[in-house]
Amino acid sequence: MANLSFECKHGGVVCRARITGETEAEVLEKAVNHARKVHGVDLSRSKTLAEYARSLIRET
Ligand SMILES: [Zn+2]
Repeated sequence: MANLSFECKHGGVVCRARITGETEAEVLEKAVNHARKVHGVDLSRSKTLAEYARSLIRET
């Protein structure tokens, strides 16, 4: 199974966090939690932001 990852820095955010998971939904959920806790941004409140975050997920 492919491993997927999300990195804040790919979105232009100065942050070294690297979030990984086995499915897009899993990575996105972790990314949403990370953004809320660390950056004070709720990605789930905006469809545009959620789609953008999803587009940053890549295979490792
Ligand atoms: Zn971050």
